[in-house]
Amino acid sequence: MDCLFCAIVNGDIPSKKVYEDDRCYAFLDINPQAPVHCLVVPRLHVGSLDEIDGESAEAASHIIKTIPKIARELGLGNGYRVVTNIGEDGRQSVKHLHFHILGGECLSENMA
Ligand code: AMP
Ligand code: ZN
Repeated sequence: MDCLFCAIVNGDIPSKKVYEDDRCYAFLDINPQAPVHCLVVPRLHVGSLDEIDGESAEAASHIIKTIPKIARELGLGNGYRVVTNIGEDGRQSVKHLHFHILGGECLSENMA
């Protein structure tokens, strides 16, 4: 399977690592949309939140629990936004589940 984020998780494509553990990997977005823009992905390939099943739900749940720790490491004590895009209308460009962590400034009220 040809998947950019699987290649990043496997170290085949370089990335700026922020955090990793046995189930997830976090790295800086190559095209930041905020002063701090990090992506968190499960090591397990799953297409999107829309394709969650038992094993991937456990991985996604682990990421949700880990995001506050990553946000603290990124210095986002004053708040941040977590986004996951799904499918065509959601403008998902990489078909491997990922959560954007955005922050480092007071973000726009407009989310769409
Ligand atoms: P989405 O549009 O929600 O699928 O988000 C995909 C994100 O991946 C975008 O914000 C891209 O800037 C980011 N991205 C694409 N390629 C890379 C890469 N090689 N390293 C880091 N981030 C990337
Ligand atoms: Zn993948």
